[in-house]
Amino acid sequence: MEKLVIGHFYPDLLNLYGDRGNVLALMRRAQLRGIEVEVKRISIGDELKSGDIDIGFIGGGQDSEQNIMADDMRIKKGPVIKQMIEDGVVFLTVCGGYQMLGQYYEEHDGKRIECLGAMPHYTKGEKERFINDTVYEIEIGGKKVTVAGFENHSGRTYLGEGEEPFMKVIKGHGNNGEDGLEGVRYKNTFGTYSHGSLLPKNPAITDMLLELALKRKYGADYELSELATETEDLARKQALDYINGNTNGITNDL
Ligand code: GLN
Repeated sequence: MEKLVIGHFYPDLLNLYGDRGNVLALMRRAQLRGIEVEVKRISIGDELKSGDIDIGFIGGGQDSEQNIMADDMRIKKGPVIKQMIEDGVVFLTVCGGYQMLGQYYEEHDGKRIECLGAMPHYTKGEKERFINDTVYEIEIGGKKVTVAGFENHSGRTYLGEGEEPFMKVIKGHGNNGEDGLEGVRYKNTFGTYSHGSLLPKNPAITDMLLELALKRKYGADYELSELATETEDLARKQALDYINGNTNGITNDL
């Protein structure tokens, strides 16, 4: 039986707007395919060794929480996380977690958080926050997929050399409100500003991440089995309808 180990980093500090739902979605869509899943909570002071995890998840946080975990991530776990990223371990990182993989995050008052420096992007905070229900587009397996999300950030992130955008912004601000780009992809590491949470209503992305992790572990020939997406598709349709103003009597109060 195949097994995946998901490392949930700093779950006690970085977990905004249902970010943990991403871990649950990865777990559920793997288990429904008969794949065993173990979730490890990895926080300040915890040891991390290479080979410990197949998928890493880092959620979003407030600036104050990013200040609390920054040194542990950079100094204690930094070399191992950097090596994992270079080795193609799958990572999904959201908002504050995405910012923390880059060079630095300069808060809107000018205070600088030194980040992990695993990737070249950097982030500058502004007073005005970007708060929106969002729509993005991504191509997965040659198919264009419309993605529903939610963003809430003061940071403006700029990608660097060797980094590809994760998605294209259709509605919302994405990385910085200027270049129409959303998130980052470097090897098998993904960063996004989308909370809300991203994976439960966008199963094509969940499956893409699972497949990357399983191919890495069990060989390039590994094929992820088919699995229905009706429930997730309904959730995405409702979110997209809401964003597009077709509420059909359904409101976000539900
Ligand atoms: N503190 C960061 C910002 O405001 C991240 C916020 C978040 O994770 N939602 O940009």
